[in-house]
Amino acid sequence: MDAVLDTARTEAWLRALAAAVTAHEAELTALDAAIGDGDHGSNLRRGFTAVLAALDAGAAGDSPGALLATAGRTLISTVGGASGPLYGSALRAAGKSLGGTAAGPAEVAGALDAALAAVQGLGGAQPGDKTMVDAFVPAAEAFRAAAGDGLPAAAQAAAAAAEQGARSTVPLVARKGRASYLGPRSAGHLDPGAASTALLFATLAETVDPEWTPVPTGDGGARRDG
Ligand code: ADP
Ligand code: MG
Repeated sequence: MDAVLDTARTEAWLRALAAAVTAHEAELTALDAAIGDGDHGSNLRRGFTAVLAALDAGAAGDSPGALLATAGRTLISTVGGASGPLYGSALRAAGKSLGGTAAGPAEVAGALDAALAAVQGLGGAQPGDKTMVDAFVPAAEAFRAAAGDGLPAAAQAAAAAAEQGARSTVPLVARKGRASYLGPRSAGHLDPGAASTALLFATLAETVDPEWTPVPTGDGGARRDG
């Protein structure tokens, strides 16, 4: 069976991403403490806790596009840092691109391009500026290149590319965001936003694997229905 990103998987992905952000909060905050202001983990945890609350309330929508749009709006309204509007606009644009029907790999590739365009339209970062864009660009490219092999293969290729893209930020000097205030001293550190983008793609890969089934964990856990 060809896997698609349907409503249940979209919700499961957002829940998995919320769990990953919470599990990695300290790490993301430590990365941001080195070259920013030490709030990236707490910013994302606050935002995704609000996303979970909207999902738990059953008020987030009943299609892939509606769920992503709600998550995006929620991040924009709850996260003060730069990453809230950036990720929020990305998810909102992805939701708008997906619309109300279950998405195959080509549609997801289009949604990722829309998300990336939103991030770059808002933040103006190019690859090499040491931001989330350094993980997002190779991930979206790898996804599209592997889309013909199905959603799980494309998502896995994207996750690997995002991880590698995040690692590629270590030697870079930041040209956007707070880290750019450090100039050359920003080199030698992993960009926190690139690290959280790697989590976004890792959780997508884990969620769209057809072998993967949501594990009910009580309140806040992934759900099978949707
Ligand atoms: P803030 O910098 O406002 O404290 P966060 O700490 O939550 O916000 O997020 C910092 C991350 O946001 C950076 O590591 C970087 O990846 C990303 N970022 C910052 N500015 C930009 C930008 N203009 N374009 C893309 N990503 C950016
Ligand atoms: Mg910060």
